[in-house]
Amino acid sequence: MPQQIDYLIVGQGLAGTILAHELDTRGVSFHIVHNPTGTSASAVAAGIYNPITGMRFVKTWLADEIFGQIPNYYSALEAKLGGSFHQQLPIFRPAENPKQQNEIIEKCSQPSFENYAQYTKNPSQTLLLQQQHFGGMLIGQSGWVNVPKLLQLSQQYFESKQQITYQHLNYDELHVSNQKVQYQGVTYKKIIFCQGYEALANPYFSWLPFKAVKGEILKINGELGLHSLAFLKGVFLLPYAQNHYYLGATYNWANLQPTTSHEASSELTQKLTKMYNGRYCIVDHQAGIRPATTDRRPFIGLHGYYPSLAVFNGFGTKAVSLAPYFAQNFADFLQAKAELLPDVNINRFSSLYLKSEI
Ligand SMILES: Cc1cc2nc3c(=O)[nH]c(=O)nc-3n(C[C@H](O)[C@H](O)[C@H](O)COP(=O)(O)OP(=O)(O)OC[C@H]3O[C@@H](n4cnc5c(N)ncnc54)[C@H](O)[C@@H]3O)c2cc1C
Repeated sequence: MPQQIDYLIVGQGLAGTILAHELDTRGVSFHIVHNPTGTSASAVAAGIYNPITGMRFVKTWLADEIFGQIPNYYSALEAKLGGSFHQQLPIFRPAENPKQQNEIIEKCSQPSFENYAQYTKNPSQTLLLQQQHFGGMLIGQSGWVNVPKLLQLSQQYFESKQQITYQHLNYDELHVSNQKVQYQGVTYKKIIFCQGYEALANPYFSWLPFKAVKGEILKINGELGLHSLAFLKGVFLLPYAQNHYYLGATYNWANLQPTTSHEASSELTQKLTKMYNGRYCIVDHQAGIRPATTDRRPFIGLHGYYPSLAVFNGFGTKAVSLAPYFAQNFADFLQAKAELLPDVNINRFSSLYLKSEI
């Protein structure tokens, strides 16, 4: 390994992986240190990207800037890595009652929703699900990424270029100054922490106001009749293989143990009962901790005292859609080509940093 490298990326979850590919594309030198046995939200993510979210069917933050680029971004990454892990997939959200039906019809008539959604009486694929009396919103510019596969192919890619080491980065071995960081005999311009939820244990960035949220998800097998459509009604059903579906996900802010629970599995299966009462079996059950933030915006930028320390984190429930866009913005910033978007720059919390010990 060379003795001088531009960036050391800590963590090869979705955030670290997407950022590493961005630096790779720009010909910037980097190395990744990754603990494969640590907690990883990316390993259990369903991988959905969806421009219309929430109870009130709102266009998600930066939808117009981001969603049109997502298919091309992941297709190009598939070509680079030589594998298939991305699929464009519409999402159907049924209306619960006549009031919501009217709300959906009204939203879909707005010009700003034209490229994203249309009112549909009942998509044919939902025939096996219980009758949807009030129609619903058919969302476009949506899809899913098989995140574990993307990570695995990326790992092989970085291994082939000797750009990844498997170990838990030990903070005590870091020698940090304003201009550089040394770790295990190698000098880096910057170290970029992409640790997901484990950032809470990072002595340099634990002052950031994370609002981590545990999520659990099931994989089920049954003849539900959905194949090229995801279904969202309290929970989502996402077809990932013939007669195989993700059923998810739960949100738990109180219990941050990354272990599966009977309560979550009952919650998900009860919600499924409201839309499907045929036979199915559970083939897998996983849990992870989403690195969500108090203001629902990512945490990106440089440490206030040591500019050689950086963070790229806080993608919450939307890493699949946000990480590519902000990897570009952050790489531009690192190369002094652009400012960071103020909404994501961690300097918005500098008052919290000043109160912390480091
Ligand atoms: C059930 C569930 C469903 C989800 N579904 C979706 C979805 O449909 N769409 C979507 O966009 N998002 C979804 N998410 C959210 C998404 O998974 C996260 O936003 C995203 O994976 C976060 O990626 P990350 O790289 O920041 O963190 P992580 O995936 O947690 O990765 C961080 C990595 O850093 C490593 N690490 C940490 N500290 C160190 C250290 N000191 N040394 C070495 N390595 C270290 C860890 O081992 C880990 O592998 C879901 C999350 C959950 C839990």
